Amino acid sequence: MRQKKFILEESELPKQWYNIQADMPNKPLPPIHPATKQPLGVDDLAHIFPRECCVQELDQEHAFIDIPEPVLEKYKYYRSTPLVRAYALEEALGTPAHIYFKNESVNPLGSHKINSALPQCYYAKAEGTTNVTTETGAGQWGAALSYAASVFGLEAAVYQVKISMQQKPYRSSIMRTFGAAVTGSPSMSTRAGKDIITRDPRHPGSLGTAISEAVELATTTPNCKYTLGSVLNHVAIHQSIIGLEAEKQMEKAGEYPDIVIACFGGGSNFGGIAFPFMRHNIKDGKTTEFIAAEPESCPKLTRGQFRYDFGDEAGYTPLLPMYTLGHDFKPANIHAGGLRYHGAGMIVSQLIKDGLMHGVDIPQLETFEAGMLFARTEGIIPAPESSHAIAATIREAKKCKETGEEKVILFNLSGHGLIDMTAYEQYLNGDLMNYKLTDADIEKTLQSVPQ
Ligand SMILES: *Cc1c(COP(=O)(O)O)cnc(C)c1O
Repeated sequence: MRQKKFILEESELPKQWYNIQADMPNKPLPPIHPATKQPLGVDDLAHIFPRECCVQELDQEHAFIDIPEPVLEKYKYYRSTPLVRAYALEEALGTPAHIYFKNESVNPLGSHKINSALPQCYYAKAEGTTNVTTETGAGQWGAALSYAASVFGLEAAVYQVKISMQQKPYRSSIMRTFGAAVTGSPSMSTRAGKDIITRDPRHPGSLGTAISEAVELATTTPNCKYTLGSVLNHVAIHQSIIGLEAEKQMEKAGEYPDIVIACFGGGSNFGGIAFPFMRHNIKDGKTTEFIAAEPESCPKLTRGQFRYDFGDEAGYTPLLPMYTLGHDFKPANIHAGGLRYHGAGMIVSQLIKDGLMHGVDIPQLETFEAGMLFARTEGIIPAPESSHAIAATIREAKKCKETGEEKVILFNLSGHGLIDMTAYEQYLNGDLMNYKLTDADIEKTLQSVPQ
């Protein structure tokens, strides 16, 4: 019998996260204060985020960071996640490639976001915080944060992008089930929200508007910290648990990936699966190719510019050095809500600049075709976000079919799509379309980037 699934014993679970900043040939540029233009230190960031997260954010020294014991205990509820050889998908494609996926959909919340929600809430609680706030797009991060807040005894307030709230109503129910207060963004409950609604009464909301509102709430409420589910360095550190496990599991499978692929919103699941393998490119001369798959309608990696830009619509966050489409970019209402962010993480941006990885952009219909094939072969309905990784994998597997190369491809299945069935319904009914941006569109949206 062919072995299909690789799982780790509890004793084999990683006890440290990996921090690629320590090994990068060129370190990420620092976040800077928008007014003073000075690099920000831990104290500046700690007004907003739990302090330990800020320490990790700026840590360019320690390659490995201990996972706190209480977080390890909670990880054990669902980790390790399976590494699966996708034989049925390979056969359907007729490819000589060996396709593996790391299944991050098998936890109570259904996506990888929980891997960082748990430590962020743990650190917030340990530092005496009582409340946490955040934004969420499709709702996976809000759901994970709501669960983690309840685990560690914190109150959670979540701003959800209005359009996503309408597209995925069950995610707000999930958040509220775990005790969180959920508000559609832009809302009238913050100054930022009121300003946005005044300018554009029918604004559908974006991650940028929701971040502005959540940051405002955190900075105007005592004992309240803001948490972020992607983009930032400390989130990528927490997500490295994915790749560290995958490394051990690939070893059990007796293979090493030639290509590692993940979908890309702000870069956390990509960094999570890719960085532990990229370490071996940097340090041990491995030549794995790393591909980040983004939507054609939000192509910051392939068509954005490397600039200092705000992380949010209102301009409350520090200026971050990143590939961006401009902080007031309004993405089309595609169903991969988690991939509609205007910028990329600071680490990934530097890695792209240095040629250690690259992006590809994928049209919406191709992602759904890929998701359908994956569902019908592997029996898992993928999140529309994850389908971008599947589509990129299929492209590579088809190339192998042409060349006859037996490449080993590893991709991250960042989540399942069981709460996204409206999107599948629309696809099956023929109601979805592609959204390609023109160069003029991109030039226009880049005008919001500060000079
Ligand atoms: C949030 C999310 C993403 C995108 O975020 P990254 O930080 O880029 O990983 C991708 N897939 C799923 C299922 C998500 O919930």
